[in-house]
Amino acid sequence: MINIKNLNKYYGDTKVLNNISIEIDSGEIFAIVGHSGAGKSTLLRCINGLEVYSEGSLKVHNKEIKNLSKEQLREFRKDIGMIFQHFSLIQRKTVYENIALPMELWGYEKKEINKKVKELVNLVGLEEKIDVYPSQLSGGQKQRVAIARALTLDPDILLSDEATSALDPNTTTSILNLLKEINKKLNITIVLVTHEMEVVKQIAQKALLLEHGNIIGLDVTEELFLKP
Ligand code: ADP
Ligand code: ADP
Repeated sequence: MINIKNLNKYYGDTKVLNNISIEIDSGEIFAIVGHSGAGKSTLLRCINGLEVYSEGSLKVHNKEIKNLSKEQLREFRKDIGMIFQHFSLIQRKTVYENIALPMELWGYEKKEINKKVKELVNLVGLEEKIDVYPSQLSGGQKQRVAIARALTLDPDILLSDEATSALDPNTTTSILNLLKEINKKLNITIVLVTHEMEVVKQIAQKALLLEHGNIIGLDVTEELFLKP
């Protein structure tokens, strides 16, 4: 589903991703792990075309991302949901309105939006909070809203950039469990970036270890944890 081959990325003269080759299968939960500055976010942003890679190939559904036109890229991003460390919710909009936003931007009908939002609020367990503002929610609840919003356009890939890094361990586990449920129920491939091995252990089937832009490990999760 996601095929990356010999990918290099430079910022000016600095190489931040060096010869990255990975394959992520449909339905997989795949982790990109490493210390701050390792290049994790850059790699994630290359996958949804927010960042242009300098050399090599990156294909999603067999389409080379850097060959897509602006319009094709816009369509392509519809199939990719994204969540972030600081949730990126709009403070002056309610939970309902935050979740509805992507569908509104794409011109869906009110009836359809209403149905989808209610379905997703239910999935993430926030029925009682549908009319409140983000400031009235806990961190975990905010991330649940962000997850619901990321799913409104029925993506087949969900990208997560440190989505649990601002949360305490128990809340982290509950969010990871929700992501696992979404992966199974909706058959969504999940690629998540984290600096925490504990997160990898709890959720990922496969993981890529990055250090200064280089691959230092790539394996199924159990194997990675067996190594010293
Ligand atoms: P991580 O997500 O693992 O913390 P990043 O992908 O954010 O790492 O960053 C990788 C490297 O690229 C870092 O050295 C960072 O300083 C650099 N970098 C990231 N974004 C930019 C940018 N827009 N311009 C220049 N350098 C950048
Ligand atoms: P209408 O005049 O057709 O009701 P609205 O935009 O007010 O137009 O609402 C459209 C649908 O979305 C309604 O059926 C309503 O139930 C639902 N809706 C709108 N806002 C909210 C909200 N904050 N919480 C729950 N449902 C909402």
